[in-house]
Amino acid sequence: MKYPLEERLHQLGWHLTAHQLDGLTEDASKHNVSYLEFFHTLVSLEWESRQSGQLAKRVKRAKLPYTKTIHDFDFSFQPSISEQRVKETLTCRYIANGENRILLGPPGVGKTHLAVSFALEAITQGATALFLTADDVAAECQKAEVKGTLSRLVSKWSRPDLLIIDEVGYFPFDELAANVFFQVVSRRYEKGAIILTSNKSYIEWGKVFGDDVLATAILDRLLHHAVTFNIKGESYRLREKKKAGVFPVSKPK
Ligand code: ADP
Ligand code: MG
Repeated sequence: MKYPLEERLHQLGWHLTAHQLDGLTEDASKHNVSYLEFFHTLVSLEWESRQSGQLAKRVKRAKLPYTKTIHDFDFSFQPSISEQRVKETLTCRYIANGENRILLGPPGVGKTHLAVSFALEAITQGATALFLTADDVAAECQKAEVKGTLSRLVSKWSRPDLLIIDEVGYFPFDELAANVFFQVVSRRYEKGAIILTSNKSYIEWGKVFGDDVLATAILDRLLHHAVTFNIKGESYRLREKKKAGVFPVSKPK
């Protein structure tokens, strides 16, 4: 049976204090802690537990494919990436300013890894984020059209402080997805930050969106306040395979 005090604490949402009540009070009396100090300890514990709970919730809601951070990233393997720009991005000022970060490059060079690291840092700093692949965009648009909820979908993707759209360009968007994408980019313009990754250079975006005029309108808004990381290195995945002897390592001539 719970003590009434524990019950009240739970009702107030002070679950951590409720669970640790015996230990905390015993500790306080053992160390001759003042009333104010004791109260301060309780409030700090509850505050920290709330903060980490909210952080975990925001990470879950972001639907990241994995949780690698910038500390797991080997810059020496990818010298075309400006560490200074990465550091500037990690300050998350671009989010407050509604700016964008675009990561371009061939497969395996770390675009998704960097996008996830940027998102995790933003979430840690208090932002809300949502990660989508271009495939998710197309599939969700199809579903929403059938259900007649397209405008709700555009609102949903306009809301988070940071929207990550990964793998733009592997498949061309159909007309519906291209139009929704344009609406989302327009709504977020100068208000909500976007991180976008693509294996296609900007010249090829006409083909990605199936329409040069639409692609230009999208690029116009995306790039007005944006930093582009043009990654030119080798695939990290292939490096690992080469190390394992699966692929021949090309010798310098
Ligand atoms: P891309 O999105 O460009 O195709 P990924 O970000 O998915 O590439 O990277 C492929 C794999 O290699 C991932 O497991 C990623 O964590 C790892 N990786 C890529 N580049 C680096 C790097 N410079 N340092 C550490 N791991 C890397
Ligand atoms: Mg990727």
